[in-house]
Amino acid sequence: MIKLERKPKPDILTQNEHGWSCQLKTAVSAYGYYSKIPKDDKAKLLVHYRHPDIKAPLFESSNEKCAFCESKPAESGNIEVEHFIPKSKYPDFAFDWDNFLPACRKCNRSKDDHDTLKHPIVNPYEIDPSKVFHYQDIRIAPNDNEHKDIGNLTIDVCSLNSVRLMKPRADILISLHSFSAAIEDAVKDFNESDTEQKRRNRKRKISESLESIELLTSPSAKYSGFCKAYLEHCAPYHAAKSIVNNDA
Ligand SMILES: [Zn+2]
Repeated sequence: MIKLERKPKPDILTQNEHGWSCQLKTAVSAYGYYSKIPKDDKAKLLVHYRHPDIKAPLFESSNEKCAFCESKPAESGNIEVEHFIPKSKYPDFAFDWDNFLPACRKCNRSKDDHDTLKHPIVNPYEIDPSKVFHYQDIRIAPNDNEHKDIGNLTIDVCSLNSVRLMKPRADILISLHSFSAAIEDAVKDFNESDTEQKRRNRKRKISESLESIELLTSPSAKYSGFCKAYLEHCAPYHAAKSIVNNDA
């Protein structure tokens, strides 16, 4: 999970949110409860929040990834418009731009109608997840700070340590470990360079390796939060960075 920035509210929502919301509330009143609205009627009332003009800026804000698990649709099914505050319990939030999150089908199903007003979880548009979570090997864990409870609950509610997420983390971890070993050797070679030519060549190779590994931490890369957290604690990576950043 990484921090996301919300884009401006789409015009179609500004123009229609009140009307769509009133129609839904009228149906809730007519049937007594949200859950009692007949399926077909409910589908017609809710279809609006999946409008392409709403989906496009929402999905763009997360680089087409799930806001919770950072998977891409190829791994986890379609990205859907998720209601952070569940619309089934709080229909007032059914067409609220600030309540929409792009979520994969698996996180969406896992979160289901969890009541985030009564039992808050991390909303990555509002809280920087790097302050809440760290990784222990391939498991995500809450930091031992004021965010510990919300972190624990988020992991539980969104199933962030399920096998479907630990498997890709394990694959990435193998690549990161290989990078770490290779860059450690490259740093050693650089430090043992006995000519200026060798120093320059080895520095260039280190720079290329860093550029390639840092692609994994780009916000558009899947599971970028996991990769970033690894590199932050990778001593050979920091040694290589200081060589590249030192122009001497
Ligand atoms: Zn997900």
